[in-house]
Amino acid sequence: MFIQRDADLILSIPVSLENADMWCWRGDIRGVYSVRGGYRLLNENNHNLNTPFTAWKELWRLKIPPKFANFIWRCARCILPTLVSLSSRGMNIDTLCPICHACPESLNHLLLECSQVTGAWGGILDSTDLHADLSFEAWLSELFKQSDHNKLLRCIATCWCIWKRRNEWVWSRKMWPVEEIIRMATSCFIEWQTQLTTGSHGLGHIHNTQTRNVHESSHVAENIPPSTLVVEVDAALPQGGTDGFYGIVCRNSNGGFVAARSGPIR
Ligand SMILES: [Zn+2]
Repeated sequence: MFIQRDADLILSIPVSLENADMWCWRGDIRGVYSVRGGYRLLNENNHNLNTPFTAWKELWRLKIPPKFANFIWRCARCILPTLVSLSSRGMNIDTLCPICHACPESLNHLLLECSQVTGAWGGILDSTDLHADLSFEAWLSELFKQSDHNKLLRCIATCWCIWKRRNEWVWSRKMWPVEEIIRMATSCFIEWQTQLTTGSHGLGHIHNTQTRNVHESSHVAENIPPSTLVVEVDAALPQGGTDGFYGIVCRNSNGGFVAARSGPIR
């Protein structure tokens, strides 16, 4: 395995006879593994990835549930399993968009350019935003750096809902109308805004006296008579602003989902 010179040098290394052999983690000077060390090592590898997305700190500082941040992270790394992405990794598959069948299903097409999703972006992005001459990762990076916080959150929620809708179609053959994407994305946005601003940024909350805050929804099932519907209403208005939203969720006596609706307040 080794030439004689190297073998002699290796054999000349003094070996401790007191300590037994042990596994060492190469990312730590003491050889001790920690989650922090593992994360740092992974991040070093990430810097070598060829992605134009650079807003990593902004991404992880967002006050959104981890599954949404993880989704955006996968978009930024271009590892969301679109058909184009799977094909580039060696899968022998048809890459045409499963919804419109007009173009390959790249990230750009899936989330921005598909004729079956552009209606979901009305009021958030204009047509030039939707056809930016950039890779999706670069477009996403620009969005983090140039957009106001509300626009960024609404874009993230819309991307997530478009991806959910696409998967519902691919795996269950259920096709949501574009209005459902808008409703779901708005619900997400309201929830994030409410969590972000409750008690800290002075948003005024409107509560019907016969309903309860959506944050208490997990306690719905207690002391509710059978066959009773519980309607929860929440709304948020920026102080002095007009760009508010409302959300309504209807549950049965077991806490199960029945219906939901949300929309802007003018
Ligand atoms: Zn399409």
